[in-house]
Amino acid sequence: MIAEIICVGTELLLGQILNTNAQYLSQKLAEYGIDLYFQTVVGDNIERIKYATNLAANRADILIFTGGLGPTQDDITKEAVCSYFNLPMYLDENVLSDISSYFEKRERPMPEAHKKKAMLPIGAKILPNHHGTAPGVMVESNKKTIIFLPGPPFELIPMFESYVEPYLNTVSQYKIYSRVLKFMGIGESSIEEELEDLFSNQSDPTLALYAKSSEVTLRISTKKMEEEKANEILDDMELKIRERLNEYIYGIDNQTIEEVVVDLLMKKSLVLAVAESCTGGLISSKITDVPGASNVFDRSFITYSNEAKVNLLKVNEQTLKDYGAVSKEVCIQMARGAILNSKANVALSVTGIAGPTGATEKKPVGLVFVGFSDGKNSDFCEYRFLGERKRIKELAACYALDFLRKKLLKNY
Ligand code: ATP
Repeated sequence: MIAEIICVGTELLLGQILNTNAQYLSQKLAEYGIDLYFQTVVGDNIERIKYATNLAANRADILIFTGGLGPTQDDITKEAVCSYFNLPMYLDENVLSDISSYFEKRERPMPEAHKKKAMLPIGAKILPNHHGTAPGVMVESNKKTIIFLPGPPFELIPMFESYVEPYLNTVSQYKIYSRVLKFMGIGESSIEEELEDLFSNQSDPTLALYAKSSEVTLRISTKKMEEEKANEILDDMELKIRERLNEYIYGIDNQTIEEVVVDLLMKKSLVLAVAESCTGGLISSKITDVPGASNVFDRSFITYSNEAKVNLLKVNEQTLKDYGAVSKEVCIQMARGAILNSKANVALSVTGIAGPTGATEKKPVGLVFVGFSDGKNSDFCEYRFLGERKRIKELAACYALDFLRKKLLKNY
């Protein structure tokens, strides 16, 4: 089964909007194991939409159109495609009455132009739009399945999930099942090197690496008919990878490092305090993004100046003079101070040089110390990040959380 996506909209061609519909639909088709060889973007022009339809009709079984179902004069997708397939259209009274009651509820007259949305090809299946007024349409012609979806993603996505996915389930024997392993503290090329044999012999499951700003993800995918069989294959490959690189894998699929840390703190019944210098509250912000963080997060000390470090965390003035604020000695004292001045039983601290100024020969921009303390034992880790200020802050926050993750796994 081959599909083709045709996104209609001159604003897409002008670069005014990003074609996220194509990305979403491509991912979904891949999940169902439906081949996609071409995507087209075409402007709001009858002849060019027909031209794109002709190309698609000659090389695909399922044609998915997005956009141009609205009331304005440039919304002409249905008209153009139905004209290409010689599909007569009719005014669907039920759809029209839904649209008019939408306006009645808002006590507004329905502009005549909206009638257009109720014009459907004969024999069409209506895909209700629960987030707008233009219904989607699915229709068969010349052994092709033609699907019209609205342009706005908040209308398209729920419509696709409710009405198109059940159809895809019936036409596709296979589905692509994927699992994403999320790595921190190791680069793309090192992962590839460690897993060289798995990468070079891959057919099913396949492996795909993707480097992001603070992490690398590895997607394992398999094309299978049954979920159970797919899970066995994904489990098996995940195990092989974990045997070699487990310490770097902080989570799977959509998990974030802060979610993993909050979850670990909950499981281990620990409460965290944070002492932040160069990250200026970013770690605390990430932690508090996670629902339920209040059960495991006591407080944060944002101690940017030396004075704040001394006053709030009781960092020793002499230590600051001897080693400087960006030092392992100070970061350990910050973590200890956070424990002493809070109700927490574990503390994380960060001090570093985010740049662009503040560097010395021995302490370059990107030098970051992360400290940990539980009141009895303390530890630290030194990092050297590259990049501009914001990136260094982001990396420092993520790596600090990963440092905490490893401590929690090992010691509690
Ligand atoms: P409406 O009834 O709102 O007019 P429509 O089906 O006619 O919907 P368009 O008019 O083509 O859709 O697009 C409406 C809006 O939907 C665009 O302004 C844009 O914000 C969004 N949109 C359209 N196509 C895409 C796309 N391919 N990817 C992401 N967003 C899109």
